[in-house]
Amino acid sequence: MKTVNDFNFENKKALIRVDFNVPLNEALEVTDKTRIKAAKKTIIKVLEDGGRCVLMSHLGRPNGVENKFSLQHIVNKISDVIGVKVHFVEDCIGEKAEEAVAELKNGEILLLENLRFYKEEKAGDTAFAEQLSKLGDIYVNDAFGTAHRAHASTTVIADYFPENKCFGLLLASEIENIEKVLKHSEKPVTAIIGGAKVSSKITIIENILDKIDHLIIGGGMAFTFVKAQGGKIGNSLVEDDKQELALLILKQAKEKNVAVHLPVDAIVADAFSEDANTKIEAINNISEGWMGLDTGPETNKLLAEVILNSKTILWNGPVGVFEIEKFSKGTISLGNAIAEATENGTFSLVGGGDSVAAVKQFNLSDKVSYVSTGGGAMLEMLEGKTLPGIKAMLK
Ligand code: AMP
Repeated sequence: MKTVNDFNFENKKALIRVDFNVPLNEALEVTDKTRIKAAKKTIIKVLEDGGRCVLMSHLGRPNGVENKFSLQHIVNKISDVIGVKVHFVEDCIGEKAEEAVAELKNGEILLLENLRFYKEEKAGDTAFAEQLSKLGDIYVNDAFGTAHRAHASTTVIADYFPENKCFGLLLASEIENIEKVLKHSEKPVTAIIGGAKVSSKITIIENILDKIDHLIIGGGMAFTFVKAQGGKIGNSLVEDDKQELALLILKQAKEKNVAVHLPVDAIVADAFSEDANTKIEAINNISEGWMGLDTGPETNKLLAEVILNSKTILWNGPVGVFEIEKFSKGTISLGNAIAEATENGTFSLVGGGDSVAAVKQFNLSDKVSYVSTGGGAMLEMLEGKTLPGIKAMLK
């Protein structure tokens, strides 16, 4: 796997696919610069070599050219974060873009306009990819968030750089950290899979069963497992058509010597709201009309014990409705246990939209080993798929 560290960019134009799909508020200001910060190392490496950076990204889901999705709105924020003035050109292919690139000097950065202003980007159009390829000498892919998409700028373009292509440092470290869990993990390995639905996590569970010693199932999806085993779950979230699948997973786990840990108690509520009445009940004996929205104290203790005895941890998905304070304690307790284990030398990887949000909300980002930036891309890697963006670079 070649990275930017294997190239010298002196006098070279690096055409870097970044993921600057950042959130903007109504005034079109950047509200979270995590993704810009994440690309900084790669950009600095090129500039310090004495090269030039041509950055390309998408922003949102525009329908043709729409001003509110213009990357112009984020130019100043990139300059702030990188500490170098960023030039902007209002197209990503064609004469204007080519002229702007020609004017760029060593040590400078140019940002191209939103790739998705052209429908050819998502369609993976080869002519469009070829046009883009004219804008750089070396193609760098540092956009983990879109590595699972076979788009023109993430996959097809790589063909135009048979020798001169490499991973950016963010994408390389994402791959490395996920492989630490999937391929080179120190035992015992524990996967914590939470969130709302069994159906969206099933492929991950099936793929990781061979690689783990403990499986913690939490969140809404746990109730399908509890009901399938004959438990009374009241009004808790359930996918009735997934009960058989749940039993099959439990059987497979047993055959593979994976210890499955389901919650033993729950915080149950009479409504899905901040002002609901709550009580603690056994997970398999929830009252009619009540629903489990968080793990109970007994469960939190048991899960912390498993976590503190693990050497490698993967966390995907909250174990309760953490967005509502009343139902956030289980997820906080779990996060704290992971932080403590990490402090004791355990490798912990957190990924997938909602667990990343939880880790940020509870200020645990610096207390886990690695927080993945790409939700969908990470999930697909955990499902055992080879991402098109990664495959294209290895060809
Ligand atoms: P996912 O996107 O599948 O990871 O699901 C995350 C969502 O699951 C979060 O918004 C949580 O609020 C929700 N969730 C977690 N536990 C429960 C539960 N016991 N009942 C309903 N929703 C839950």
